[in-house]
Amino acid sequence: MNIALITGASRGIGRATAILLAQMGWRVAVNYTRRRDAALEVVDVIEQQGGSALAIQADIADEAQVIAMFAEIDRQPGQLTALVNNAGILFQQATLEQLSAERINRVFATNVTGSFICCREAVKRMGHHHGGKGGAIVNVSSAASRIGAPGEYIDYAASKGAMDTLTKGLSLEVAAQGIRVNGVRPGFIYTEMHADGGEPQRVDRLAASIPMQRGGQPEEIAQAIAWLLSEDASYITGSIIDAAGGR
Ligand code: NAD
Repeated sequence: MNIALITGASRGIGRATAILLAQMGWRVAVNYTRRRDAALEVVDVIEQQGGSALAIQADIADEAQVIAMFAEIDRQPGQLTALVNNAGILFQQATLEQLSAERINRVFATNVTGSFICCREAVKRMGHHHGGKGGAIVNVSSAASRIGAPGEYIDYAASKGAMDTLTKGLSLEVAAQGIRVNGVRPGFIYTEMHADGGEPQRVDRLAASIPMQRGGQPEEIAQAIAWLLSEDASYITGSIIDAAGGR
């Protein structure tokens, strides 16, 4: 059985992606940090639909925890062939003048270093040069990497810019090893992340500025991720899909 690991999958876009990938036949590893109850609820939903899933705790900003998470996947029946680097954080909306080094480092530790380390462990398992059968990685970036998020969180936007560069570089590095690496850049999506930035209604406030005149749903992002992981996208690597309603 092919296993797909989705980081930060207990809610939002990660949750929607986990449920969709399970419907497509993957055994899904639902990574979470603290909310075990929420991760187990995702596993329940998947199993009730006849799918297969397990919940795995790991803070992806902690290298030892990432290594332990991949070791746990190694003990599962089947083989890891898909990774979705979905986990991401942002903090209270602020100008750059208000940013501390500690905050910037925390954002980068999860969004950038965490994604790098998860890619490293996945490549070690998927790559033909390691005896793997190949696979696909999707990095969940953000339209913020293009827009810059002025007055809100340039630190977060810059971390997503780094993820886009990771997608490009790694896609070229492992193309001959049977691994495809692509990205999805969501725009304004209805999830709980905006509350973390201090503005739960942010998507509604910005809806009129989106060419399609509405925010997106997590399921609409999950579809783009799932397609990039699927065989339908077999000749696509190093690409980034903007899923932002035209923004
Ligand atoms: P969310 O806050 O609901 O989901 C993020 C998940 O990542 C949470 O479950 C959180 O617990 C988890 N997470 C955070 N730090 C972690 C860590 N160190 N280790 C493991 N898990 C961790 O938000 P979401 O909107 O579903 O975001 C998913 C991804 O989509 C993020 O990378 C986000 O940057 C990106 N994104 C979201 C939007 C949007 O408008 N919602 C727009 C663009 C990009």
